[in-house]
Amino acid sequence: MKYISTRGNSPAKNFTEILLGGLAPDGGLYLPEQYPQVTRAELDAWRKLSYADLAFAVLSKFATDIPAADLKAIVTKTYTAEVYSNGRADSNAADITPLRTLEPGVHILELSNGPTLAFKDMAMQLLGNLFEYALAKQHEELNILGATSGDTGSAAEYAMKAKRGIRVFMLSPEGKMSAFQRAQMYSLQDPNIHNIAINGMFDDAQDMVKAVSNDHAFKAKYKIGTVNSINWARVSAHVVYYFKGYFAATKSNDEQVAFSVPSGNFGNICAGHIARMMGLPIGQLILATNENDVLDEFFRTGLYRPRDTKHTYETSSPSMDISKASNFERFVFDLVGRDAAKVREFWGKVDRGGSFDIKESGHWNDLPKFDFASGKSTHQDRLKTIRELWDEYGVMVDTHTADGIKVGLEQRRPNLPLVCLETALPAKFAETIQEALGREPERPAKLAGIEQLPQRCEVMDADLVKLKAYIAANVPQ
Ligand SMILES: *Cc1c(COP(=O)(O)O)cnc(C)c1O
Repeated sequence: MKYISTRGNSPAKNFTEILLGGLAPDGGLYLPEQYPQVTRAELDAWRKLSYADLAFAVLSKFATDIPAADLKAIVTKTYTAEVYSNGRADSNAADITPLRTLEPGVHILELSNGPTLAFKDMAMQLLGNLFEYALAKQHEELNILGATSGDTGSAAEYAMKAKRGIRVFMLSPEGKMSAFQRAQMYSLQDPNIHNIAINGMFDDAQDMVKAVSNDHAFKAKYKIGTVNSINWARVSAHVVYYFKGYFAATKSNDEQVAFSVPSGNFGNICAGHIARMMGLPIGQLILATNENDVLDEFFRTGLYRPRDTKHTYETSSPSMDISKASNFERFVFDLVGRDAAKVREFWGKVDRGGSFDIKESGHWNDLPKFDFASGKSTHQDRLKTIRELWDEYGVMVDTHTADGIKVGLEQRRPNLPLVCLETALPAKFAETIQEALGREPERPAKLAGIEQLPQRCEVMDADLVKLKAYIAANVPQ
C-alpha cells in the first residue's frame, strides 16, 4: 500500500515512511493510493473478532510494510483491557469500546475509557507503540514538541511516557487549563516527559512551536517532531472503531447505521468516511459542530470559509473550538474525484486566508453520494442535551458528546440506527456539568484525588531563546 499526497506533487511512500512525518513535502496530506476494500466474507469474519484482532485486521490493510507478527504484537499491546479500564465503573473494559444502548436504535459508542478519558487515546496509544517500534528499527530518537490547551497534550504524554527513544516537550498556557487537566499532565513523573507552562495564551505556545519547527537547523539537530492530528497512522487507528461500533449495533452485515461525530479538525469523522469507502455499510455520517460552525456551513452550503483566530469562539466544548479543519483536505480530495490540481487551487485560496465554494466549482452535485449530514449545537443545546440524557437514561455525557447526540438525533434518517461517538468523559468538563445538572460529574475511581499528587512543570516566559535552551539542555548530544 502506497500513500500519495492530496496536492499531487510528492512521491508515493510506504506506511512506515510517513509514520514519523507530518505534511507531505508539497504541503498536502497523505492518503492511500486506493482505499483497501473489505469483502463481505471479511466483514462476516470480522464481526466476531476482539478489538485487538479487529485492529490487526484493519491496520494490516494499511501498514503493509510492517511484518504481520510485529504489527500483531503492537496492536495486542495497545488495545488491552488494562489500558481501557479508566472510564465508567459500569463499562466492560474488555470490549475496549463498549456500546451503550439508550433505547432501541440509539446508542453511544464509548471511546473515552483510555488513560486520559478522551477518544484521542484510541489512536495516540497506538502511535506511541508504533513510534517506539519504528525508532528502534532505525536506531533513531525523536523529540516531540507540541502545544496543547488540554486534551491532545495529555493523550500524547500518556502514550509516549516510558517509551524508548522518545522525549516529549509539551507547552501549555500557564493557569489556563482546568485543575484536573493540569494534574493529569503535570503529575507525570516520567523523565522523558517535559511539561512547560508558558506565561501566555495557547496561541503564544502554538506560535513558539511553529517558530521552532521553522528553524530547520535546530529541528534537524535536535530531531524535533510532532504528533498532530493530520498524522495518517492516527487517522487509520480511528477507522477501527467504526467497524467495531457497526458490528456492536447490528445483527447482520445487511444492515446500515448512521454515526454522529462531534467534529473540530475533521480527524475522527474522516476515519468514518474512510471506513465507508472501504465498504463498511455506513448509511449516514452526521457531523456536529459547536458555535464554531465552519464545517456545518460547508455541508449545508458548499462554502468552506475558515475563520481567523479573532472569529474563533471559546465555547464549553473547547476541543472543537477550531476554525480550520486540518484533515478536511482529505475528504475534499475524494469529493473532487481525486483531482490534485483542484485541491491545490482550493487550498491556495485557503492558505491566503480566503475561502472556496464547491457550488462555483461544479462539485456540489457530487456531495450527496458521500451521504453526510450536519448541524450545529450551542451552549444552551449542550446543557439541554446533558440534562435530557441524565433525566431520561441516567447517563451523563460530556459537552462534546452532547453536541454529537443533539445533531445526530436531529439529522438521522428514520429507521437508521444511530451510533453517537463519545469523545470524552464528563469528568473532564466539570464546570459545564455543574451548570447543567447542579452536581459534580462522576470521576473514574483510578483518577480520584489526582489533583493532590506532586506536580512537575517548568514555568517559562513566551521566549523562544529560553525554549530552545531548555530543549538543548534536556536532549543529550
Ligand atoms: C479532539 C476532540 C474532538 C474533535 O475531534 P476531531 O477529530 O478534531 O474532529 C471532539 N471532542 C473531543 C473531546 C476532543 O478531544
